Amino acid sequence: MTDYEYRCQRQRAIDKDMMLVCRDLGIEVGTRGKWRECRCPNPQHDDRHPSCRINIQTNRYHCFSCGAHGNNIDLVRMVRGCSYLEAVAWLLGTHVALQTDTPPQPRTTIEEEKTEHLDVTWLHSLVSPREYYRLLSPWAKDFLRQRRIDPNLIDAKGIVSIDRPVATQRARRRSSQGHLYTPVFPAPSLLFPYRDENDIFINLQARLHQPKEGQQRFHFPPGSHTALWNPHDALTLPDGEDLWLCEGVSDALALLTSGRPVLAIASATSLTPDAADFIARQAARLRLHIYPDSDDAGQQLYQQLLQLCPALRRHDLPAGCKDFAQAWAQGCIEAR
Ligand SMILES: [Zn+2]
Repeated sequence: MTDYEYRCQRQRAIDKDMMLVCRDLGIEVGTRGKWRECRCPNPQHDDRHPSCRINIQTNRYHCFSCGAHGNNIDLVRMVRGCSYLEAVAWLLGTHVALQTDTPPQPRTTIEEEKTEHLDVTWLHSLVSPREYYRLLSPWAKDFLRQRRIDPNLIDAKGIVSIDRPVATQRARRRSSQGHLYTPVFPAPSLLFPYRDENDIFINLQARLHQPKEGQQRFHFPPGSHTALWNPHDALTLPDGEDLWLCEGVSDALALLTSGRPVLAIASATSLTPDAADFIARQAARLRLHIYPDSDDAGQQLYQQLLQLCPALRRHDLPAGCKDFAQAWAQGCIEAR
């Protein structure tokens, strides 16, 4: 395709009637006047009352609450979580097929009920055929090397990298505003598999490499309730052994590389009752240790864990290090 052809296609995509585009995206729009109102299509904006207006003369939308705005391509990208080029293609090609093949679904189909849950089979398929992924992307290798993480550990824990966004489920998901979208892991990211006490795969978490301002670093798929990483290893430790608690997989990888068995809490705010119960049970038979992160969240997590296991041994990080991973990367902590 020449540049000229591409620009023509893009213009056709932008010029398409936004009312039709909304219909195909499952967005309900008011039917009168120059400005048509709808609930905001931004998946990040839980818009109960219609805050978004579509101007049928300029063929653009604007949310007066969150500020989301743009043309057809911006709208499709936001709702479907796809790339610019995919949005153009969807508007021009797949768009037509979608009208006939998959008309907007009523709210209570089996497909949608399934989307309330994690698509674990799909998530597993993203990391299980490891031969496809065995060569981590160069940025991922560099990152892990700089952090002095044992490559064998990356292999053993099934960690892979992705260079472009990947859907977190096969079926589309209905947002709180009622429209369908495909949730994605952002990229480039490392994908961390989570396994349960029996070492069965249960979830994936993305660690976004170099997030932009305002972007979160860690991403669980919508519908996740996963709280612990590596619980199976804890269960395999004989009574009386040492176990380190930490926040997040990055620290866990550094602790494991340093020779310290680890149980990671997914984030300082995610200590579910089940996870707390699991930790309390380990506290009854193992010697628990922690290097609290040197920020407020780290101190809060430490206090929370201390309630569960009063014998928790606290170790302080070398001055200037915010977490164990950094201290390990800088060679400030000895291997065991
Ligand atoms: Zn909005």
